[in-house]
Amino acid sequence: MRPGLSSELRRIIGITVFCLFFGVSAQATIEVLLLGCVVYLLWSLRMVLRLFAWVDGGMRGSPPDSDGVWGEISDTLNRQRRRHRRAKEKMRQTITRTMRMTEALDEGMLVLNSDRSLDWWNYAAESLVGLRSLDRGTAIINLIRDPAFVTFINEANFSEPLRLASANQSGRLLEFSGSHFGRGEVVLIVTDITRVHGLERMRKEFVANVSHELRTPLTVIRGYIETLKALPEVPSGMDKAFNNIAVQAEKMQTLADDLIVLSKLESEGTPEACEPINVSALLYEIVADARELSSGKHRFDIQCDEQLGFQVSAKDLRSTLGNVILNAVRHNPRGAKIEINVTEEDNHWNVAIRDDGIGIDPIEIPRITERFYRVDASRNSTSGGTGLGLAIVKHTLNRYGGSLVINSRSDEGAEFLCRWPKAR
Ligand code: ADP
Repeated sequence: MRPGLSSELRRIIGITVFCLFFGVSAQATIEVLLLGCVVYLLWSLRMVLRLFAWVDGGMRGSPPDSDGVWGEISDTLNRQRRRHRRAKEKMRQTITRTMRMTEALDEGMLVLNSDRSLDWWNYAAESLVGLRSLDRGTAIINLIRDPAFVTFINEANFSEPLRLASANQSGRLLEFSGSHFGRGEVVLIVTDITRVHGLERMRKEFVANVSHELRTPLTVIRGYIETLKALPEVPSGMDKAFNNIAVQAEKMQTLADDLIVLSKLESEGTPEACEPINVSALLYEIVADARELSSGKHRFDIQCDEQLGFQVSAKDLRSTLGNVILNAVRHNPRGAKIEINVTEEDNHWNVAIRDDGIGIDPIEIPRITERFYRVDASRNSTSGGTGLGLAIVKHTLNRYGGSLVINSRSDEGAEFLCRWPKAR
């Protein structure tokens, strides 16, 4: 039994024995017992009132002085109060630490309510986005009014970050990424990517400039090699060397050209002048080139409406389909069949280029559109490609709002689906 309860029982027994003794000796047992009960109840009521007064006063100071069951109740409440205070202090320290950590971040952090009004932000967000304390509760799209940002917030699809020029500090580029949490709330992380973007631009410009600069010396080398090859008396063994130099110079020229194409694709936002292009005629032209490269080793089949026209830049369509079709020739052995099939969907034209050749391991598929990535470097370096073909295809399609979908398995052929949107 709890000590408070047993001491209370002892008290009750004591009062009863005392009342009985006096009651019997005064020949008024019932009256004295009743009087004892009333006194005990009044005392208990006083203890309850003191306890209530202490609890109502926020349990400040020490609990009311009492023993028995009331003493135990106030001791228990007091112990819980101390435990609660310790937990509160610990939580306060954790919150302060978390706040200090977020304040120390270089990235801006903004918390938006479910109605997309601003709830909280850290110091970095204040300087990056230009917020003031009275902005709390304001809709974020009234503070950052860029249409791209408004769409980003309204659509709330945060799979891709959004890049925006800072309205607060000119020349700065910010990247916004968002995540959902709680009940429809959103946390936005704002990163200053001015430096990274500058480095990216430098890298692109450097590659484009080097490729441009290489063009002239390569043209000169190729010209001289042609002249040397045409000499009436070529020293013995030199004709093979000249041929080798010519092949390598041509490879370098193609590489430089592809790098320039990729740099342009990355830096130019919108596609070049678009015109209606007869797809079937273009496919027959590309397949004629492919047949030449194949020298009769591959079979071709084109399924395309002869009247079909795409509204695209002829150069882009040729480069995209050409890269995929020539790849099917370069990377597949003698006897492989290459099928080209153009079909229509609600919003897209699908150009599927299928082959029944060596295929690609599904693990490699996400990587083959990276620059210079080759499934089998030793085999492919001799195939004549630059390693940039599929990167060019992917970038070109993305610029049109289309996509490249690759389906393949090792030894089961490959399908390259070029999805061109009908309207942009
Ligand atoms: P490359 O100049 O090497 O062809 P790409 O970017 O065009 O560079 O292609 C990347 C890699 O994808 C190739 O090296 C090859 O391994 C693989 N590949 C492309 N097309 C096919 C295909 N039709 N069948 C099998 N593998 C392919």
